[in-house]
Amino acid sequence: QYEDEIYEYDMKIRVIVRKRPLSNNEAEKSGGIDVIHPLDYGDFGKVLVYQPKTRVDLTKEIETVPFSYDNVFGESSTNVDIYQRSLRNLIVPFFKGQWSTVFAYGQTGSGKTYTMMGSNMTGINAGTATDDASNLGLYYLAALDIFDMVQRPEYQHLKVQVSLFEIYGGKLFDLLNSRGPVKCLEDSRGKVCFPGLTEHPIDGPDRLMELIELGAQNRSTGTTSRNADSSRSHAVLQLKLRKDIGRKKNVEHGRLNFIDLAGSERGVDTNNCSRATRLEGAEINTSLLALKEVIRALATGGSMQRIPFRGSKLTQVLKDSFIGENSRCCMVACISPAIENCEQTLNTLRYADRVK
Ligand code: ADP
Ligand code: MG
Repeated sequence: QYEDEIYEYDMKIRVIVRKRPLSNNEAEKSGGIDVIHPLDYGDFGKVLVYQPKTRVDLTKEIETVPFSYDNVFGESSTNVDIYQRSLRNLIVPFFKGQWSTVFAYGQTGSGKTYTMMGSNMTGINAGTATDDASNLGLYYLAALDIFDMVQRPEYQHLKVQVSLFEIYGGKLFDLLNSRGPVKCLEDSRGKVCFPGLTEHPIDGPDRLMELIELGAQNRSTGTTSRNADSSRSHAVLQLKLRKDIGRKKNVEHGRLNFIDLAGSERGVDTNNCSRATRLEGAEINTSLLALKEVIRALATGGSMQRIPFRGSKLTQVLKDSFIGENSRCCMVACISPAIENCEQTLNTLRYADRVK
């Protein structure tokens, strides 16, 4: 019955929008003005954005911009709600050998890490979470189901492995190996491989979170705060199922990629910053644009041969996860309801609108 349910919602691409609550600080500054009005119709949803024409008098000069997506979640939604509509449908296919990817997209502070990691973790890409300690993220929720499945007799020959790396400035760094360099190459058959990347066996969700915590300590440093750092790189968590049968040992079976993308605002051209920051921004911009093209090609069912995977490191890394017959992907576009973030929110909504 569980499996029937899974296929009922089968879609190659699913785009979900998630609005986070106003922070106390934002509410205080704006007098509680919330520019986002989500309307969830169950199987699809709409977002209305009240875009101020002038920031001075919001009540007189207002324009409503509507967007539609597969699902839209308001500020009262939980990570479990998001999980149900995004990743959960990908777990059984993962055990059947499917390669899928889930992205968190949005500006810094919009809730990407909160979604992926939950609020009780301080690790990878962590924000300044102090709220509900029981709110688990997609990493953990997926791991719960995965380790439930792997107990079943039909899947006992499979083992779960994890890799964790970041893509920063077009380079890959292994977060489970002291930030050691990783290459991303294609073999003679066009298959992507990652020389240098370590892979670790895990036996349950808690071990997974432990490794993620460990990885967090290896994130790129150099600027003001941890949150600022993590906003400049893409964090990639790969869960792999490997089978160990007969002569073909350790054959990779299914793969799930979780990507906590760099802050989308980092890709915007900034003149008022150092050369290094500008280059970083250009790299992020390129990768997010390439990602949009790749997902759109997947959505329209066009030939994968023509897709410019080499357009960025991010898309090159994901190539094999996209070209398979039954590849799936889900994007969770995270947005802020604050009036001061209105422009970036519109950018995110446009981006998410165009990938599908
Ligand atoms: P990002 O990773 O996109 O930069 P974070 O996930 O770090 O953003 O979120 C920024 C802040 O907002 C954190 O303090 C986080 O706890 C809070 N936050 C984000 N999403 C939610 C949510 N849905 N409910 C409650 N708090 C949230
Ligand atoms: Mg983050």
